[in-house]
Amino acid sequence: MATKIIFFTVNGRPEKAEFPGDCPAQDVKDLFRSAAEAGPHDILKLYNPKGNITNISPGLEPNSSSCCYKLEVVAADCNSAELAGALGFDLSSMEKRLQGLEKRILTEAGDAPAVVYEMKKQVDSFREKLESVEHLSWLGLFKDLSEGTHKPSPFYHKRTLHKTRKECEHVREKFLQMSSLEVSEEVRQYLKTPTFDNCFEPKPTMVAVEDLRLCTETRVMYTDLDFIAAFNIEPAVLQHFLFEVYRRYNNIPFHNFKHCFCVTQMMYGLIWLTDLKSKMDSEDLLIMLTSAVCHDLDHTGYNNAYQINARTELALRYNDISPLENHHCAIAFEILEKTESNIFRNLSMNQYKRIREGIIKCILATDMTRHNEILNKFKSILTAFDFTNKEHREVLMMILIKVSDISNEARPMEVAEPWLDCLLQEFYNQSDVEKLEGLPVTPFMDRDKVTKPSSQTGFIRFVLLPLFIELANLFPCLEQHIIHPVRKALDYYTEMEKALEREKVIRAQICVSIDYSENVPPNLIGRSEAHSFWPAANRVVSGRSGDFTSSSSMKVFSSYTLCPLAALPTSPSRGVAAAVEENKQSRRGSQRA
Ligand SMILES: [Zn+2]
Repeated sequence: MATKIIFFTVNGRPEKAEFPGDCPAQDVKDLFRSAAEAGPHDILKLYNPKGNITNISPGLEPNSSSCCYKLEVVAADCNSAELAGALGFDLSSMEKRLQGLEKRILTEAGDAPAVVYEMKKQVDSFREKLESVEHLSWLGLFKDLSEGTHKPSPFYHKRTLHKTRKECEHVREKFLQMSSLEVSEEVRQYLKTPTFDNCFEPKPTMVAVEDLRLCTETRVMYTDLDFIAAFNIEPAVLQHFLFEVYRRYNNIPFHNFKHCFCVTQMMYGLIWLTDLKSKMDSEDLLIMLTSAVCHDLDHTGYNNAYQINARTELALRYNDISPLENHHCAIAFEILEKTESNIFRNLSMNQYKRIREGIIKCILATDMTRHNEILNKFKSILTAFDFTNKEHREVLMMILIKVSDISNEARPMEVAEPWLDCLLQEFYNQSDVEKLEGLPVTPFMDRDKVTKPSSQTGFIRFVLLPLFIELANLFPCLEQHIIHPVRKALDYYTEMEKALEREKVIRAQICVSIDYSENVPPNLIGRSEAHSFWPAANRVVSGRSGDFTSSSSMKVFSSYTLCPLAALPTSPSRGVAAAVEENKQSRRGSQRA
């Protein structure tokens, strides 16, 4: 295809664009956009020599330098002094102030008063009107604060993010009184298996009792791996350490103390299953277990992308390099700095140095943006893996903590699925806040784009299974324990995704019938192919739009109301492939660790 050359001016400056005739339209627009040094939201207008506006597309008529097109950037960004001057005030600072106020209300009150939502509705409808007026369309620059029908409802606020003093005192008192002997021999053995599912309902009613048990069971892990004797750990110090760890996990939906316990227990189970006690020394094992215990300390429920985009204190402190993981690690050593909770206080300098180095490596390895780097390293040493090689052991330790960290799907479905709900809740809350603050919205966290099955299939297929399979290549005994259940989970979510797709098609057919005739085919009324999946699917939907249940869907279907379409869990055009592709592109699942 021949190359086209277009001569034009921007602000009187002559420019020349060159592109192939079959160049995609978006690329041509981007070319002109960069020539005009325009921002992504600015509107470009191109005038032909006759003074008429013409479309910026590959179909542009080639011209000569004496007969130029003229390019104008219509919408300057809202920070420009020119715009502020024309309006009499600075829009962006006003918007920032509003966002700040809104965030403060949410942070301090937990939820915004109804009047705020009412005002937002009015602002939205006003903006809609403005956007429909062509010459004011630059107002489209402003981010959409209220996409969809949901209310933005960030879960975090200062009063509940950290554990209360009362909550902590209660657990501390009881925990210090509890003896490891209260854990039965049966549970002790059960703890050593990855199928351990004794405790994992993420939101039990008796939170304190549950947490107490988990603290005690973690203590059993230290005892049963013989760390107490090997490293001369005083029981009271171990108890203080575990209590401090418990205290420094926040009350958030996913990255809480129970997640810490799940990861630690999986690590513990893997150590036993693969008989690492006979292959690695106890210092390595101590590194692995303690890293698992500390790996998400003081997680606030917002991933690294958010930390960096929002320029949080953590991102500033760690220069955007794994801010969260660096923080988790720093908190761990803050706890260990206190004599009364320093389980390493009786170690030699060299032992301490080695263990500190190991823990830092393991915790930093849980940053999923390093997933491929670590997995590829492991693959490269796999065929000649040597347990006496320090470097090999270090890579293995990183792989083991990574596997443990994302191992929920290896657990029975009734355990894994509620955890997924918690994860999605945390994701959705982050994307709500991102929208609220005008930050880039993390695609795999967007409640308007992600459903439970679409979130799972890509993650299991492209992240989880390849990692687990490599580990099972080194330890074939793990195949049945962690790979089989994950494959089952993949089948389950693939089926769920197909069922949701079918459901949407059926509903679309019903709507077409309603459009063209009052006679809805009787076979379509109230039929739900996805019925067997509704209980699961509804949980996702309910997070988005309220209370769309199967019974309400039946009711709505028979009364020919179109509301359910607004509550469809995914946008109609979005299929498995699209979800997977988008997830891949956004380094999906990256912060679910
Ligand atoms: Zn984690």
